[in-house]
Amino acid sequence: MNWSARIQQALSERQQQHAWRSRPQVQHNSTREIQVEGQRYLHFSSNDYLGLSQHPALIAGWQQGAKAGAGAGASGHVTGYRQQQAELEDALASWLGYPRALLFVSGFALNQAIIHLLAGKDDRLLADKLSHASLLEAASLAPAQLRRFAHNQPHSLQRLLAQPVSGATLVITEGIFSMDGDSAPLVEIAQATAAAEGWLLVDDAHGIGVAGDQGRGSCWQQGVKPQLQVITFGKAFGVSGAALLCDDATADYMVQFARHLIYSTALPPAQIGALHAALLAVQQADGARATLQQNIAHFRRGAASLPWQLLPSESAIQPLVIGENSAALALSRRLAQAGCWVSAIRPPTVPPGTARLRITLTAVHRTEDIDRLLEVLHDAAGE
Ligand SMILES: *Cc1c(COP(=O)(O)O)cnc(C)c1O
Repeated sequence: MNWSARIQQALSERQQQHAWRSRPQVQHNSTREIQVEGQRYLHFSSNDYLGLSQHPALIAGWQQGAKAGAGAGASGHVTGYRQQQAELEDALASWLGYPRALLFVSGFALNQAIIHLLAGKDDRLLADKLSHASLLEAASLAPAQLRRFAHNQPHSLQRLLAQPVSGATLVITEGIFSMDGDSAPLVEIAQATAAAEGWLLVDDAHGIGVAGDQGRGSCWQQGVKPQLQVITFGKAFGVSGAALLCDDATADYMVQFARHLIYSTALPPAQIGALHAALLAVQQADGARATLQQNIAHFRRGAASLPWQLLPSESAIQPLVIGENSAALALSRRLAQAGCWVSAIRPPTVPPGTARLRITLTAVHRTEDIDRLLEVLHDAAGE
């Protein structure tokens, strides 16, 4: 089959499976509200958990940074690595108690870089089944053997760890899972990994800024220090980009060999400026974190009697599992008609038969916003 025919076939399969992905064109997004095609909605699909993307200090940090120029001008290995970036890396490392932090343009790129660099063909990668696509993509393309353990089941991981391997083992999980909202049992996972002399990578994209003292994330909260910690800045930090927290030798190894760093333009100065401000704002956001927790508790109380399965999540991610793609889409549309924007998440992002509304709550939602969402959900349930 030629390329055109193959592309056509893939597109028509997408449509038949009610799996077509469309990208809404957003005219306005204040984290609490969104405007799409001229319509205003209460917004329950943002990862901007603390509302920092709209924070005046971050915007000022961005503008201040931009005075140094619009772009970095080169890879960090040429002339794109600025003093401001080095200072940000040092601040992140000392905040989280690691010797080093390395910035990447995105969490997706970072996960490719670290997994591809570490995983040789005699090694094995043991990943939680529900790990983010950026982790599983990298792991399945790497020459190492990939095995997946049952979601949040240390016993399942232990069974895999007990099998012999000639090379090294890297265990991969998330702090708070992006599509389920639940937390990994990091203490048990770290113990099992250490007992097998493996390394642990925790991707805390949804925990950093939100969980733990000062928002230091899931690992800090659970008292675990994995060899590799990935944090991203597109969620609670309200900007974009990512950082790897690790020891000195691993950081040097990445700087020497990671192609995603060497052959890619460094982050623009404006983004570095915004990230400095975001780090301060996150550290000072105890009030916003408390409001977020209240919003989560309020939503869960009101949603308990809905006929759909509300997953056991204490995080800002509150998934309602609907099942079939078409049913999840229909409910999403029904909510939109009533002024609430909640995206339907379908396979392959989630396992088949578990299409869901991934409701996200933020610190900027008001109690009446959540009451409105609950009212609309209960109305839809009664129809
Ligand atoms: C969003 C996300 C990423 C990707 O990070 P970007 O910086 O947006 O590329 C990686 N891992 C997890 C768990 C995520 O949720």
